[in-house]
Amino acid sequence: MSTYQTITLKRGKEESLLRFHPWVFSGAIANLPQSVEEGDLVRVTASDGRFLGVGHYEVGSIAVRILESEDIELTPGWFATRLEQALALRRKLGVIRPDNNTYRLVHGEGDFLPGCVVDIYGNTAVLQAHSPGMHYARHILAKALVDLPGAGIANVYYKSETTLPYKARLDPVNDYLIGGFETNVSMENGLLFNIDWLKGQKTGFFVDQRDNRALLEHYSRDARVLNMFCYTGGFSVYAMRGGARVVHSVDSSAKAVTLTDANIALNFPGDTRHTAYAEDAFKYLAEMPDGAYDLIILDPPAFAKHRSAIKNAMVGYRRINAAAFRKIAPGGILFTFSCSQAISREQFRLAVFTAAAQSGRRVRILHQLTQPADHPVSIYHPEGEYLKGLVLAVE
Ligand code: SAH
Repeated sequence: MSTYQTITLKRGKEESLLRFHPWVFSGAIANLPQSVEEGDLVRVTASDGRFLGVGHYEVGSIAVRILESEDIELTPGWFATRLEQALALRRKLGVIRPDNNTYRLVHGEGDFLPGCVVDIYGNTAVLQAHSPGMHYARHILAKALVDLPGAGIANVYYKSETTLPYKARLDPVNDYLIGGFETNVSMENGLLFNIDWLKGQKTGFFVDQRDNRALLEHYSRDARVLNMFCYTGGFSVYAMRGGARVVHSVDSSAKAVTLTDANIALNFPGDTRHTAYAEDAFKYLAEMPDGAYDLIILDPPAFAKHRSAIKNAMVGYRRINAAAFRKIAPGGILFTFSCSQAISREQFRLAVFTAAAQSGRRVRILHQLTQPADHPVSIYHPEGEYLKGLVLAVE
């Protein structure tokens, strides 16, 4: 038996844990020992004393994130084994190749490490904690990452300043835990990207769009492409390789435009097919001429970060999609996405449907997209699925 303090649940509140859902909500707790502190490992038992799991305790609506269903100590070796299992899956998925060293190694609950995200860029791992417990485990995780057999990780950059609960007052500092800056050029499907893990959004790159970018490449030949919300220009670089006639990348952030230009130059130096613009999406979509683009990508930031914002988010999705439907050239292809966890696949489809109906154009669904397999979703934790996309043919 483990030596951790025990949290007891109210009667009947063990149901979801018995079905492997990894969260205990604060309202389910009957007894919380006084000396338990935020970030501690705890044992969780049902009201009848039956053991349910070991997890990290935190203050908030999610009170415990379960890591282990056996009553054992979570030693450094335990963390190392979880990482080995995560690496074994990525090997199986074929995302670790000479022409691809950009992938997600740990996707939180989907890799049975709730609160922990690890993205790999060549020999650098970017580690992100979403829970106080994972913050305290960061040095154990960093050591296990560089010791991971065959992974070739030399540097671990910790980037949790914006992902940890503010109220926990952990004051995390974004910095290298092991190693330091070497090269930030990483390869995805044979294309090169400068990854700004020091200042960039998320871990520096949207690894989750890899498969969707690869699909876009096949629709790009001779197309006039608009990559809206381009950030690092991921979709633009693939469109260029796919043989697009013209590629325009748009982002409201001037820094994103600089990143996009740099990534285009890295792969297609001197190629004049591409131009990036720092512009607001709504303004650009409203002002662009009809029929200027055959292929449009809409990959906005999460319009709804919380459930309270769903209504406004739905309006936002409808508006940008309506503009694209109105303006896209006949026979055009629209790649449209939502990365809001609070918006369901059905809600997103409804917003896009409404926008299509408003435009009066004939629209067909060609592909229904999601996150790639290195962002796995536990079937017991459907909340882990967040990326939704549709590829639409617009007549
Ligand atoms: N498609 C990108 C990720 C997009 S992230 C990829 O594959 O990597 C969302 C981007 O939208 C951010 O770069 C952000 O700067 C930009 N953005 C946010 N609001 C915007 C707006 N109103 N107009 C244009 N861009 C916006």
